[in-house]
Amino acid sequence: MEKEVFIFGHKKPDTDSICASLVRERLDKKNGWNCTVAKRLGKVNKETQYVLNYLHIEAPEMIDEVEEGQEVCLVDHNEFKQSVEGIEKAKILSVTDHHRIANFETAEPLYYTAKPYGCTCTILFEEYKTFGHEISKEEAILMASAIISDTLLLKSPTTTEHDKKALTELEKIAGINIEEYGLEMLKAGTDLGDFSEAELVNLDAKEFEKDENRFVIAQVNTVSIEDVLKRQEDLEKAMNSEIEKKGLQLFAFVITDILNSNSEIIALGNRTDAVEKAFDVKLENHRALLKNVVSRKKQLLPNIDKNM
Ligand code: MG
Ligand code: MG
Ligand code: MG
Repeated sequence: MEKEVFIFGHKKPDTDSICASLVRERLDKKNGWNCTVAKRLGKVNKETQYVLNYLHIEAPEMIDEVEEGQEVCLVDHNEFKQSVEGIEKAKILSVTDHHRIANFETAEPLYYTAKPYGCTCTILFEEYKTFGHEISKEEAILMASAIISDTLLLKSPTTTEHDKKALTELEKIAGINIEEYGLEMLKAGTDLGDFSEAELVNLDAKEFEKDENRFVIAQVNTVSIEDVLKRQEDLEKAMNSEIEKKGLQLFAFVITDILNSNSEIIALGNRTDAVEKAFDVKLENHRALLKNVVSRKKQLLPNIDKNM
């Protein structure tokens, strides 16, 4: 048997990371490449679980690390900090991604597809078109779910015409009402009640490096910012323990209201000035309201990174 090639998205996987891995595997098979297998680098979140339950499919198998020389295909990320343990020694065959390219290097040539779209699955959707493959109902729902998740139902500023076009076509194939399905799916992800504060600050956290600075931007979706803020004191304890554990200069915890497209940011560490400068706000009680800010990739990260 041919050796397995692993496909996976980033750590703390979101819906795009899981769905893009599953879709990449299906698309590879249609192209006669049978050895790729979807994997995941962490727990499935509630939003993604909603999608998997809806389709009655299993999550990809979880892996913690890869051995030297393991062949891998990355989706929805490229930065090694967000990838699997051992990625430096793996052989990266391909990357399909919609993020900035940073801290990425390979020893050998590879397939690299980077597009500044709202979602990795939009890139995959266009690959189906390029190859002339039919999209099954299941594939359509996987891709539509990822696009809904990453673009917050096309409301995020990361949304492009490509995402809109893809979602319109996927809606037809899927035969579902995207607004209804999408809102239920997003709401499933806002059920934060049974997470501890330590879990909440790690749920969707990404680590970045700028010169000697290490910082984390974590994000949770909610339909009530107020509800999450009731736990501010304990959230801060959890954030401070992450700062200590990882030697961070900044931990930004962003609570995003998916209905009104605003975020409240809680910032701790010795470089919270970067947040104040980035959004021209004054932190009060360690926090500030960021009007119309919902995207880490396009709004939070570039502005904070610039001021670090
Ligand atoms: Mg992602
Ligand atoms: Mg994505
Ligand atoms: Mg995301």
